[in-house]
Amino acid sequence: MACFGIVLLLLPMAGAHGMDSSAQAEGIPMIEPIDIQKLRITVIYDNFGGNEKLRADWGFSCFIQGLERTILFDTGLDGAIFAQNMEGLKISPKQVDLLVLSHEHGDHIGGLPAFFQMRTNLSVWVPSSFSAPVKAYIRKAGALLEEVADDPRPLCRQAVTLGKMSGGAFWPDEQVLYIATTEGGVVITGCAHPGIVAIVERARALMGPKILLVMGGFHLSPYGEGQIRRIVDDFKRLGVRYAAPCHCSGVLARKCFREAYGPRYIDIGVGTVITGADFKPASP
Ligand SMILES: [Zn+2]
Ligand SMILES: [Zn+2]
Repeated sequence: MACFGIVLLLLPMAGAHGMDSSAQAEGIPMIEPIDIQKLRITVIYDNFGGNEKLRADWGFSCFIQGLERTILFDTGLDGAIFAQNMEGLKISPKQVDLLVLSHEHGDHIGGLPAFFQMRTNLSVWVPSSFSAPVKAYIRKAGALLEEVADDPRPLCRQAVTLGKMSGGAFWPDEQVLYIATTEGGVVITGCAHPGIVAIVERARALMGPKILLVMGGFHLSPYGEGQIRRIVDDFKRLGVRYAAPCHCSGVLARKCFREAYGPRYIDIGVGTVITGADFKPASP
């Protein structure tokens, strides 16, 4: 759907320096870091990876365990593939406590009807600018619709949505998931339409400068190698320790991040499970 114009987000930039991931500032939700060894993120839907059991297809979805509440982030494009991959990964819809939908594009919400056939009595968090028909559909299915405006909101003790960000003139608004861990923040994006660097900067400004991992769609397919390398440099400048681009990041961006990040590049696709074992302690 079309974007609702440009929303200027005036973020509370002051106070970002010297904050750690458990620090609080006015207006920032209460959040406490999860022990990184307890966190488990499974990619359910992606256009990279795949095998005879798990089908790769355009879109993104992941499943996050270990937090106070178990989170499903996006649902991919095709309901049958989404349901098949959930089954292949032995993930039951009953395990899901809440569903976060990053933005209103089919490759992120297309699996919603299939998911609602399996599970409806849960909260579904969407940017408040989602279209009226999709909001009505979620309510009619029996789910509790949570509309996310510009401000960050807690999803559980260890995770927040960073709030609705503008996708600019051409793309829908998008929300980003942030998980506080003992090693820094984990930032999960759907398509990163607001811009992947702007998203990382927002995460740092709101939640603190330590970013352990940024994963998901970075939306760099349309970019040339020079632009992508500048974005990789921005990641380094912003202190992002691990990068796991998938979905709409594109093959070239994955190559550039792999070269620049070396052992701190995490190659993800459908079926990938990220755990604490993927991360080395930060050097002092
Ligand atoms: Zn997408
Ligand atoms: Zn999109």
